[in-house]
Amino acid sequence: MTEEKDYQKILASVQKPVEGEAGKTGSWSTIKPKINLDKCIVAKMEKNVCHFCWLYCPEPIITRTIPPRILYDYCKGCGICVEVCPHKAIEMVEESEL
Ligand code: SF4
Ligand code: SF4
Repeated sequence: MTEEKDYQKILASVQKPVEGEAGKTGSWSTIKPKINLDKCIVAKMEKNVCHFCWLYCPEPIITRTIPPRILYDYCKGCGICVEVCPHKAIEMVEESEL
């Protein structure tokens, strides 16, 4: 099995977003991550070449799509997506800026 197939297998095993016992957690934080599509490599290349934000979000509420999208109803504002983005394409902003 190639490294690429191993990688795809790992990605496929990651759980999909579901509503947990805490319900919608989007109100837990007033700052939220915002993806700058001019910097996001997936959006720029229109290919599934990164998606670290999707992989590491603990909820998980970032879609593995082109471009990636954040489902704010469940975002706790932890900022992990900001830290793992290799292209510095995500920043935390006030909700009013979304
Ligand atoms: S701030 Fe945390 S919960 Fe919200 S999208 Fe980023 S990693 Fe996920
Ligand atoms: S980690 Fe950053 S560059 Fe990679 S898909 Fe997410 S926003 Fe785009």
